Amino acid sequence: MCSEISKLLLTLEKTGKNYDIEKIKQAFLFAKDLHEGQFRNSGEPYISHPIAVAEIVAGLELDTDSICAAFLHDTVEDCGSKTDIDQIRDRFGEDVAMLVDGLTKLVQIPFEDKEEEHIENLRKMFLAMSKDIRVIFIKLCDRLHNMRTLDAKIEQKRRMTALETMHVYAPLAHRLGMQRMKHELENLALSYLDPIGYAEVKQEIEEKYGQNRNFIEKTRSMIADKLTEGKFSFSLEGRVKSVYSIYKKMYEQNKNFDEIYDFYALRVITDTELDCYTILGVIHDMFKSVPGRFKDYISTPKPNMYRSLHTTVIGRDGIPFEVQIRTWEMHQIAEYGVAAHWKYKSGEASKEEIDKKLEWISRLVENEDNTRDQDEFLRSLKIDIFHDETFVFTPKGDVITLPQNATVIDFAYAIHSAVGNKMVGAKINGMIVPIDRVPQNGEIVEIITSAASKGPSRDWLKIVKTGEARNKIRQWFKKEQRPENIMVGRAEIEREMRKFGRSYTETQKNEILLNVASRIGIQTVDDLYNTIGYGGLTITRISPKLKDEFDRIVKVEESSPITDISQLQLKKAAKNQSGVIIDGLDGCAVKFARCCNPLPGDNIIGFITKGYGVSIHKRDCPNVVLGMEKPENLDRWVDAHWPERVHNEESFEALLQIFADNSIMLIADISTALAEMRVALHQINTQKRGADGMIINLTIGCKNLDHFKSIMSRLKTIKNVTDVVRGFSS
Ligand code: MN
Repeated sequence: MCSEISKLLLTLEKTGKNYDIEKIKQAFLFAKDLHEGQFRNSGEPYISHPIAVAEIVAGLELDTDSICAAFLHDTVEDCGSKTDIDQIRDRFGEDVAMLVDGLTKLVQIPFEDKEEEHIENLRKMFLAMSKDIRVIFIKLCDRLHNMRTLDAKIEQKRRMTALETMHVYAPLAHRLGMQRMKHELENLALSYLDPIGYAEVKQEIEEKYGQNRNFIEKTRSMIADKLTEGKFSFSLEGRVKSVYSIYKKMYEQNKNFDEIYDFYALRVITDTELDCYTILGVIHDMFKSVPGRFKDYISTPKPNMYRSLHTTVIGRDGIPFEVQIRTWEMHQIAEYGVAAHWKYKSGEASKEEIDKKLEWISRLVENEDNTRDQDEFLRSLKIDIFHDETFVFTPKGDVITLPQNATVIDFAYAIHSAVGNKMVGAKINGMIVPIDRVPQNGEIVEIITSAASKGPSRDWLKIVKTGEARNKIRQWFKKEQRPENIMVGRAEIEREMRKFGRSYTETQKNEILLNVASRIGIQTVDDLYNTIGYGGLTITRISPKLKDEFDRIVKVEESSPITDISQLQLKKAAKNQSGVIIDGLDGCAVKFARCCNPLPGDNIIGFITKGYGVSIHKRDCPNVVLGMEKPENLDRWVDAHWPERVHNEESFEALLQIFADNSIMLIADISTALAEMRVALHQINTQKRGADGMIINLTIGCKNLDHFKSIMSRLKTIKNVTDVVRGFSS
């Protein structure tokens, strides 16, 4: 019944490890069933591919779950609605589901022929999205099999796949120390990218090797005899360098074929580190060494943990050859890299072993990012290498790196200040999103700009996370908006001065502000307002100096208490934050009912809830009308009204319903109109209405009823909009 996987089962048996064979068989049968009727380009049944991938994974001796995931890796992507991650989780558990999900996500990363910078980001994104290192191992195996069978694909597809292999997959294998994987991927990729160059080098190697077959064989047996004499335990093999590594030296370093010193190589594998050095001595006794070619990667391992002794010596007939000397353990690591740790350990690894493994991986990637917090990194098996960075795409496919939590506004400014300054909205993966949305790894972010945009909003300064965006926004305000900055700055300073609780004259104010300005190196009061206005200085930064000068200039005895009633109300308002005044209930908690979202200016009423303070409704809210009918609650309704002046920065949520004829530009037009009015869009959803009508429900930020009405009338002017009404949610 499982004869197709008998080879795989045999491989697993030979490892002597404790595999869950039943689970592996189930995964195979499940995948086979799902791929039934699908064929590869070569004409073979599709299941032959997952089987081959699982065999390569088994060769790395990864765990049961990895082998199951290898069988299932294409089921979610390719089998339409037949299965999904939840079904795999139910059948095979959380780990297998997580691995398959990770593999499926990687398929969606687009690759195009890009400059080096973008390719590096692509590699990082690849790692960042993989979450668990086993995902990368399986993905590499998947790619290896696809490369081995690339012949069946059409030319253009072959080239793109080969390019991606060369630029993304082979370097990843290298970084993870998986030399065997790396060499095979590189050679296969090269044979598709430069078939003629590949064939030439391959032929030259064969010719040269053919001519000197005796040389390498004789040298090998000379060394073997000496080592046997010395009673070493060893394995000794002769080899030539891979086609790709010779190709690279010839074309990139512009070397002649004969100038390649390490064309011939011998590899000695022995038991202990000490043996390595003793054998090195034996070799150097036998042959003359080439100066400057000895490398001790045992005492100084390569960043990818490769360890070996390398030396180049001159053999008979003056032919140079390289000798590599290493232990069996070093050899495993040289061939399989990080994966060797799975291969080496049998059964359950102890906690210390896992820690050691993780430490090792962390050292591997250390040279890329020194700011990582080691403890956090070592916390779990996940390789969350770039946890403080997010990698997203522009619509053209360029990768942009953002700090984690950066918003689409940061993205816009990361592209160019001109993009940020003209931004009126944003899309992620084609969907309109709020401007404070945080893009996730791999998402495509598109900034909607409009020539009619009046520039960034001051609120953006509170939303953005990068210094770059903040600086660019401030620069804009500094340059473009001086009169408005002065107004905003003056209002902020006056609000701050009111907090000091004593009245002052205009002359006193001027004196105070001039003093404050000169203390921070600013010339005029207007410049001070302007600086506060564009955000160059925050009010909290100058507040102590302001208080200082205020206390000096406005003496306590000559001041009078505040009598302005609206300011008293403002103080009271601060207590319940909204400013709503409830008759007879001072300082109680207030919240706004989500059903009708009352705005300043609406007629309102309060309802004393059980334990959640007073909830404020519009008087004409359907829930109020219904609620009034219940006599038992009658004494819980209380009169409420707005203060004369609501704190002007307060933004209320309001619901809007737009009726319109279906049009492609509609959403963009609405988004543009809102952005132009500096209205925050919190939520948007659309529904169809009849054959070509639609209803758009918006949640927006709004100051008061007048503001809301002006927004409504502006939206009514948009083409194809038939009506705009205030929304209720039930
Ligand atoms: Mn595949």
